[in-house]
Amino acid sequence: MSVLENKGSNEAIALEEKYGAQNYHPLPVVLSKGEGVYVWDVEGKKYYDFLSAYSAVNQGHCHPKIVNALKSQAERLTLTSRAFYNDMLGKYEKYVTDYFGFDKVLPMNTGAEAVETAIKLARKWGYEKKGIEANKAKIIVCQNNFHGRTITIISASNDPVATENFGPFTPGIVSIRYNDIQALEEALEDGNVAAFLVEPIQGEAGVFVPDGNYLSEALHLCKSKNVLFIADEVQTGIARTGRLLATCGNCSCPDRSCSGSPEVKPDILILGKAISGGVFPVSAVLANNDIMEVIRPGNHGSTFGGNPLACAVAIAALEVVKEEKLAENADRLGELFRSEMEKLIAQTDLVLKVRGKGLLNAILINDTEDSSTAWDICMALKENGLLAKPTHGNIIRFAPPLVMTKEQLLDCVSIISKTLREFKK
Ligand SMILES: *Cc1c(COP(=O)(O)O)cnc(C)c1O
Repeated sequence: MSVLENKGSNEAIALEEKYGAQNYHPLPVVLSKGEGVYVWDVEGKKYYDFLSAYSAVNQGHCHPKIVNALKSQAERLTLTSRAFYNDMLGKYEKYVTDYFGFDKVLPMNTGAEAVETAIKLARKWGYEKKGIEANKAKIIVCQNNFHGRTITIISASNDPVATENFGPFTPGIVSIRYNDIQALEEALEDGNVAAFLVEPIQGEAGVFVPDGNYLSEALHLCKSKNVLFIADEVQTGIARTGRLLATCGNCSCPDRSCSGSPEVKPDILILGKAISGGVFPVSAVLANNDIMEVIRPGNHGSTFGGNPLACAVAIAALEVVKEEKLAENADRLGELFRSEMEKLIAQTDLVLKVRGKGLLNAILINDTEDSSTAWDICMALKENGLLAKPTHGNIIRFAPPLVMTKEQLLDCVSIISKTLREFKK
């Protein structure tokens, strides 16, 4: 009997429980196929994907253009390491820096690695350019952030589930309230601050959208104190919020695809997830020369970072975003989705609020934080053919692939409405 023999859902789940570390608590559905906005379980049941692998699959599942780029590159060259040049990396670096409007990119693989890279870059800049005394550099972060899972990154977290018994932690991190300009202003009084690391919308925290001027004011304050503004757009970037980047949310460019007017352009931009359309782990740290030049050979690296397969996949995935006008679609469908949810909220006391931008949205469930209501609603949604997952507290995030059509979105709205109206606690 082959190890790859097909199994039913229960058997597949039992295998993971028996042989895998239990570091996740998945919804009990076993997926075996995806196409566009749909996924299918091993029994053949079809679902709308309303999570998009935490916004990694913005371009839709198995996008043919991205898969073809993967296939043809895989047949030619997959990995050289950076010990040698390869014929894809330079092309990708030119493409991605033009696309987002920065001088340079440092290619990595996962989001957490890119955040780590940005922190290292900011510290080194702090010592060599700003003149911070050795080992004194500080990075300001926000409460309830999510930036990944490495030791340094969880050192910036205030989530006990993520931090308990993982100490000792990395020093040099100062945590302030999110969406609180005054708190930032006070923290910036310290001359040892090298950078402010922030999510333009806090995704994992429950799609928390800051006030309209928060990001531009924060950037302005950082500039005035010679502190780097680092935007973690791993989840919000690549058209998810109705703009190419969420930091561009305040600018009025007509094509929604600029990388931010000067008032909201970060010094360091961190991307991951959808930069590869969910096909391959690709992440990137972008900055201009005056910052990136502090990194010299041997200072930082990754065996897989910038590999030819990643480069081919990321170019294709970014082309799809522009060719299929995904930012415009996310903007339009997001407005529609929130207005439909408002109608629903008027009819049920199960939902308190809808919030979000573009197709990164969440509904707040009317129950205590520790109740299982959001989870139970997600189970009911699954029965009705739509997959979503609760985030922190009693909040359900709704983030479908951005290739969704209006008809499909309205179909999803009716699944959500029906499920919530029929739901009994
Ligand atoms: C997912 C995420 C990360 C971490 O990315 P991984 O690829 O899971 O390491 C970092 N920052 C934000 C905002 C994220 O949403």
